[in-house]
Amino acid sequence: MPKLDKIVLITGASRGLGREMAFQCADAGYDLWLTYQSSDAKAEAVKEEVLSRGVECRLLKFDVADAESTRSSLASALESGTPWGLINNAGITRDGLFIRMKQDQWDDVIHTNLSGLFNVTQPIVSAMMKKKEGRVVNISSVVGLAGNPGQVNYASAKAGMVGATKALALEVARRNITVNCIAPGFIQTEMTEELDSEAIIKGIPLGRLGEPRHIADLALFLLSHKADYITGQTLSVNGGMHIS
Ligand code: NAP
Repeated sequence: MPKLDKIVLITGASRGLGREMAFQCADAGYDLWLTYQSSDAKAEAVKEEVLSRGVECRLLKFDVADAESTRSSLASALESGTPWGLINNAGITRDGLFIRMKQDQWDDVIHTNLSGLFNVTQPIVSAMMKKKEGRVVNISSVVGLAGNPGQVNYASAKAGMVGATKALALEVARRNITVNCIAPGFIQTEMTEELDSEAIIKGIPLGRLGEPRHIADLALFLLSHKADYITGQTLSVNGGMHIS
């Protein structure tokens, strides 16, 4: 695949869905800015693999929940170019029943998944608006649409991402920027490896967990010109799970 001379910024790209999206973006010819929080060796390994696929790659290390370091890291990256695409993927869970949930479980999940979207997206979309083009893809969750016991914090953050997607899409549509959301079901990554997969599979009509490539395929489509006329949408990739 020839290089596109377009940059895609993926948050949380050291592992799981972000890593797979990085590989698929590289195969599609995008240069990459990949962020992570702490997994230095894993992030370096992703970078090496991306470089071997013939595109450029820059690693950015910051906590998306930390507004100041996020903004200063992105400000210096933006001096060298403006991403065509942003995938807000960094996220965490801190599960527990609501009545016993500690303040830090709530704060960590909201600050990382939802405030992280704000901290990263504002400077990047500001730059996209000057270029009058861009793509934002937010990685929400089936839990943000359907709820899940033990995940009131995570469901709140992920539902917030759906609302943010709709509102931001309306604000930036005239600048030729699309904003969409992917709501994955249960996908095999480190985030889900300790869950009871047999019990989960009983609730999945297709009878199996998803793979990272299932999410990456849709993200790549949303970044492409084939998705030029899609904005403000939340698309589920969940093996047919019912969302009421
Ligand atoms: P994962 O394997 O746990 O990877 C999480 C990634 O996010 C890592 O790269 C991690 O960096 C980064 N990250 C976490 N907290 C961060 C922070 N504060 N600042 C910067 N980076 C941070 O997770 P995943 O399963 O790939 O999930 C990716 C996204 O999809 C998340 O938003 C998750 O909520 C969503 N999702 C996942 C599933 C699923 O079934 N797996 C389903 C629905 C939605 P380090 O490696 O440096 O910690």
